[in-house]
Amino acid sequence: MQFNMTLPGLEEVNITKSEEVEGALLLHITVPKKAQRCPLCGERTSRIHDYRTQKIQHLKVFERTSYLFYRKRRYVCPCGKRFLEPVFLHF
Ligand SMILES: [Zn+2]
Repeated sequence: MQFNMTLPGLEEVNITKSEEVEGALLLHITVPKKAQRCPLCGERTSRIHDYRTQKIQHLKVFERTSYLFYRKRRYVCPCGKRFLEPVFLHF
């Protein structure tokens, strides 16, 4: 299952999976891939280096205990700089 929605306090995210575990809602999210500006040299790149998953407790979704498993994307620039995608998460 994959669909797009807006969560409170989040930009548009892709929810790649949702599940319920012991009454809590677990959402697996990514943000859309797009070209990013390298913080070092200013070039644009959309080459992905790797992913890291971060678990975030999120209390605002559907008035219940929720956890976000945010799959952070890291980009790599032709200059060699690796950097996390800029995401504005407001909890
Ligand atoms: Zn660069």
